[in-house]
Amino acid sequence: MAIRKVRIMGDEVLTKVCREVTEMTPRLRQLVNDMFDTMYDSMGVGLAANQVGILRRIVVIDCGDDPHVLINPVIIETAGEQTGPEGCLSLPGQSGIVTRPDYVKVKACDEDMEEFVLEGEGLLARAICHECEHLDGHMFVEKVEGPLEDVDYEE
Ligand code: ZN
Repeated sequence: MAIRKVRIMGDEVLTKVCREVTEMTPRLRQLVNDMFDTMYDSMGVGLAANQVGILRRIVVIDCGDDPHVLINPVIIETAGEQTGPEGCLSLPGQSGIVTRPDYVKVKACDEDMEEFVLEGEGLLARAICHECEHLDGHMFVEKVEGPLEDVDYEE
């Protein structure tokens, strides 16, 4: 188990476009495992590779249903709309209201570079959109409606 340092908004790496993965390597498998460890350690539901400083198109998501690894994800269909609070491990302690599709279909590769399609609704759809934007160097704050709010953590 290895927790990596989550980069905080203002770090240049979060504004960079990540590169496609062409081949799975032991090093990238380790990265995926570490991303899950890091996400769970921070109580997050999603993490993109550039949030731990690696410019590769890799996303991990777990909204409480199943852990998902999305390599080279491409959103191929969206439908509906949801508006609600959203946060990011790269902006700890703050959240904002963001409107997202309520349904997303994403094409990606798994850890064996086999292509698959994942459909998500609600929180999973929100997480897929949020994480895919990270890979293109964008943060959710660009889409926040109104002010950012402080989040109270219960320890
Ligand atoms: Zn984020």
